[in-house]
Amino acid sequence: MLLKNKIAVVTGASNGIGRAITNTFLRNGARVIGLDLEEGEDRNPELIPLKADVSSTAECERVWQEISRITDHIDILVNCAGITRDALTKKMTEEQFDQVIAVNLKGVWNLTRLIGPAMQARQTGSIINISSVVGIYGNIGQANYAATKAGVIGLTRSWAKEFAMKGGNVRVNAVAPGYTMTNMMKTVPENLLEKFRGQTMLGRLAEPEEIAGAVLFLASDLASYVTGEVLNVNGGMRL
Ligand code: NAP
Repeated sequence: MLLKNKIAVVTGASNGIGRAITNTFLRNGARVIGLDLEEGEDRNPELIPLKADVSSTAECERVWQEISRITDHIDILVNCAGITRDALTKKMTEEQFDQVIAVNLKGVWNLTRLIGPAMQARQTGSIINISSVVGIYGNIGQANYAATKAGVIGLTRSWAKEFAMKGGNVRVNAVAPGYTMTNMMKTVPENLLEKFRGQTMLGRLAEPEEIAGAVLFLASDLASYVTGEVLNVNGGMRL
């Protein structure tokens, strides 16, 4: 029960890694406000699902008002919602580029600009942003995605400094998962998946719960002296 009585907001909570984080937090005693485009299938009295498109600044402001009617504070924010729109750069459309920036980068800013200062005012909180192995090493056909995931690391390190500026204990970290079995990977051909497995020391892809474990650590008091860090959770991937 590492998160007993904590209140968390998790984006992208209905599927994949966000869903695993939500369930891990619930099992550890937290109450979770799960934001997503659609409500997920999970039912739990401590899970409050809210619909929100994180790429919309106005919608995030609306949902923040809704959250403020539910609780007077947030202990943990996990920015997990993310998309891919892959293409080689010569074929990538402006729409593909802009969509990925809007969700993966601006979406992280949209909520954190509201919740981060509220944590700073209370002088306590933990923010975890989901980056990617692709943000660190880059990837063919994912220049847009890689740019957002590298950008998330820039946001993380800036906010770790900014939200700690007036003292207190607001921590901001990133988790950079390796390839993980979720809907996002469904379009990746088997020969590429096999190549990704071969690039890890453990010889396999991650399960969403294995990423959630790292997020739980950073969210909890076990990581009370960890901030401004990027935790790689990639089975020892070397590209
Ligand atoms: P996923 O299974 O597709 O889940 C992403 C969730 O985010 C979905 O429920 C999706 O809703 C939601 N979402 C998409 N756009 C949104 C928006 N504008 N506002 C609110 N919610 C939105 O993907 P995942 O693999 O769990 O990815 C979660 C995070 O991990 C992402 O940031 C991803 O970049 C990162 N990551 C994934 C991997 C991997 O290999 N899977 C590796 C490294 C990092 P819909 O399903 O309705 O679109």
